[in-house]
Formats: sequence, structure tokens, C-alpha cells
Amino acid sequence: MQTDSPFNFEYSYLDLPSVFYSLEQPAVFPNPQIVLLNNQFCKQLNIDTSNHANLLTSFFTSSVDASKSFSQAYAGHQFGNFTKLGDGRAIVLGEHITQNLQRFDVQLKGSGRTAYSRGGDGKATLKAMLREFLISEAMHHLKIPTSRSLAVISTGEPVYRTTLDAGAVLVRVMKSHLRVGTFEFAARFGSIADLKGLTQYTINRLYPQIEEDKNPTLSLLNAVIEQQVALVAQWCGVGFIHGVMNTDNTSISGETFDYGPCAFMNMYNPNTVYSSIDNYGRYAFGNQYQIIKWNIARFAETLLPILDDDKAKSLAMAQAAIDGFDAIWKNTYYDLMLKKIGIATNDAKLYALVDDLLDIMLKHHMDYTNTFWDLATKKDFKLGNTYNADFVIWIKKWEAVINKVSNIDSAQTLMQQYNPIVIPRNHLVEQALNEATKGNLDLYIEMLKITSKPYQFQTVIDMYMQPSTNQFEQAYQTFCGT
Ligand code: AMP
Ligand code: MG
Repeated sequence: MQTDSPFNFEYSYLDLPSVFYSLEQPAVFPNPQIVLLNNQFCKQLNIDTSNHANLLTSFFTSSVDASKSFSQAYAGHQFGNFTKLGDGRAIVLGEHITQNLQRFDVQLKGSGRTAYSRGGDGKATLKAMLREFLISEAMHHLKIPTSRSLAVISTGEPVYRTTLDAGAVLVRVMKSHLRVGTFEFAARFGSIADLKGLTQYTINRLYPQIEEDKNPTLSLLNAVIEQQVALVAQWCGVGFIHGVMNTDNTSISGETFDYGPCAFMNMYNPNTVYSSIDNYGRYAFGNQYQIIKWNIARFAETLLPILDDDKAKSLAMAQAAIDGFDAIWKNTYYDLMLKKIGIATNDAKLYALVDDLLDIMLKHHMDYTNTFWDLATKKDFKLGNTYNADFVIWIKKWEAVINKVSNIDSAQTLMQQYNPIVIPRNHLVEQALNEATKGNLDLYIEMLKITSKPYQFQTVIDMYMQPSTNQFEQAYQTFCGT
């Protein structure tokens, strides 16, 4: 590392066998400019941002240690089919170590072709990178584990998509980019020693607390189940649809990442899909828990050769872990959903109250976020333009339960911690991105600000609470890899 770099880089990933990476250098761009910089986050990471020129240099030129920056190899199931791929357009500059010794991958996304690029150009559009910055930061402030966005840098170079678009690079930060797909790569293309090495490295880096367990590999499987269940339940809590839950986009650390075709649901409907390529609704809102279970089963398969020396025992262990998934999901999901209706005790007899509310939301085309927010703040729910008869009947039942287990005031205090007042509304995201790519970042910056306090009352946010219209929602499509 050069002394003038604002980063404190280590490269533990490079201790893995060399099949797991390819050393790569970022492209040289004609005119890189910082469009957005996440100052607050940089401060948390102890990254000095006072000198922008120095920061830019550290991303792109001589102070990137050319012998160390790398892309990760991985494979994975995309839409259910196995394929060999890698971080085609991503380069890890290094693992930044903070003053309190936390380790974070600092990665460039869109910085040119790598050994894994196949047909791709390795580049990214400004619009897609601004979108990832906005949504990932919104997720963080919604208190959901996620990759973070450190900066968006316009490159001064056009990229060719359906049209000619402005190019950009995102600086993405994550506890680690290890994913189910990294294990799939090891299991299919590596030796047993490679797979063991990866497992040992992962445990050491992400789950050191299980290192001394009787069977750390089994503990890793169970830890990933727990983290991913907690994550996807939280997505469901805020109406987030990831949109491309391929196994290579399922992190081992339990962080949300790969913000491509993702979006937030407005009106509640479990069949909601926004992704332009998800024709059969594989990754629809209500399917996300089935898909994460499927992805975890792929993860369990990769561990079969090393869970136990006895094949039958390995299989039985993996099967037992997967068989336990539904109960863990149910417990975690309803625990959260009950809190969203103001109930702190996880009582299975009350799960139907949650299901009934969702059925009413579906039947009456109710907005997911605003319905929960109303419950968390309003005192009076009268039949009329706003509320339908089914909902008003449900409210009576709900109030009776609340008065039995606590009282409305403390229920509402609880609900305000679990029900956001604002989410990034799809029509506003698009409007902000369209204006931003034309050079006017006002709305975009305001959205970043408003969505950074999603659980707080803020003045003048009516516009941000308005759902997207049905007409907008029906036509809305989001895209991968742009
Ligand atoms: P995604 O669906 O974004 O996870 O992408 C699937 C794979 O394609 C990943 O390995 C990406 O890194 C890679 N990829 C996506 N876009 C590009 C691009 N423009 N150039 C090279 N590789 C890409
Ligand atoms: Mg991906």
C-alpha cells in the first residue's frame, strides 16, 4: 500500500488458492469525476475524504496496488440453471481495515473487463450506479444488512446499452463478497483441499465464534441459514423485492447485495415482480423465502464432501439443516410481522392476525407501507374512503388483542420502530434518476436525505409517502446488469 492512500488495505482473500481469483487492474478512464461521495460512511470507516483528487487517484491509478487488486471467481444458479461466472465487472481494490479492526471489501463495480467478463464490456451506466447507491443506502437506513455505497464516479466515457449512456463506477463496500456461488465454484471446479480452505477462510473471516465448534462446517451452514432467513424476513417487512436472487447474489455474510432489478412493492401483492426478465415470477415478493431455501440447499450441497467423512452422515446432516428451515423461517418472519402490528410476544396463535391483514390488503389493493404506518400512528379507523369494511372489522379484532397483551400506546411505540414512514417510491426513484442523469441532482439528493430517516416523522414528506399509481406500477420494469 502506498503511504498517500486513504485506505488501510490488506488482502486476506489472496491467501486462498489462486483458482479463487484473478489479479486485475481497473480500466483507465478519460475523465473520472466524483458524482456522489458518502462522507458519513467514509468517516465511520476512517477514510480521509478531504482530498478528492487523492481519493480518485486511490481508486484508479498508481496507488492501486496492481499486484494485489483482484476479481473473485464464482459460479452459481441463475434462474435455476447452473452457470460458471465471476465478478465480471467488479474488482476488489483491497480489504480496508478500520481503526477498530473491522474488515471491509472495497470494490469497484463497472471498472472494466476482467477474466470473468465473458461477452460483457465490464462497464456500468451512471443511471444504474446511482440507482444502486440510492437503494442500498435506503436499505441500510431501514436497518437491513446490506452492501454500502461509498461513491459514484462518472467516467467521462459512454457505454453502449440499448442507447448510448453515460458510464460510471460504483465504489461498493461489504463485509465480504463471499457468496453461495463461491462455494459452488469450489465444489465443482476445485479440489477438496480448495473447498476446505474456502470454508476455513469463511469461518475465520465471518463467523469466528463457531471456529471451536465440534463441526464448524455444520455450524457455518446453520449460521448462514439463520442470517439469510433474518435478512429475507426483513426484506418482506419493508416490501423489498430483490429481483435476482441467484445463488451468486446470496451472500454468506447475510448482507443484501447486487442491486439490479430490485424495487419496493407499493400495493400489497405477493405476486409482485418488477424485473424485466423474470417472466415466470420466480423471484416475486411472496416467493422470496422459497427461493432463499432453495439457494441454501445449493449451499448445503457444496458442503457435502466436508461435513463428515461418512457420506451418509453428511447427507443426513445437510438434510436435517434444510428440513429445519421452514420452522426457522416461520418463527423469524412472524416475530417481525407481529412487531409490525404492535405485538412483542411471538405467539403462534396470533399468526393468523397477520395473515388476515395481508389478505385484506390484497383484496382491497392497499398500500403496504402506508397501511402499517397508519396502524403505527392513527387512533381512529372509520369506514369511508380510506378504510374498507374488512379492514375496520380486522381493526376491532386487533384492538382486542392489543388490549389483552399490552395497550395501544405502547403497541404504537413498538410499531414505529418496525414500520417505516417512507420507502423509495418507484415513480420517484425513476424521476430522480432521469433528472440526475441529465445533470440535476436536486430530487435525487433530497430522496437520499428523506430515505435516510425512514422511521422518523419529517416535515414536508407527503410527496414521498404517495404510492406510485397503478398505471405506473403496471408498466414499471427494472433491469439487470446495466
Ligand atoms: P448480475 O446478474 O448483475 O449478478 O451479473 C451476472 C454476472 O455477469 C456477474 O458475474 C456480473 O459480474 C457479470 N456482469 C454483469 N454485467 C456485466 C458487464 N457489463 N460486463 C461484464 N460482466 C458483467
Ligand atoms: Mg451478481
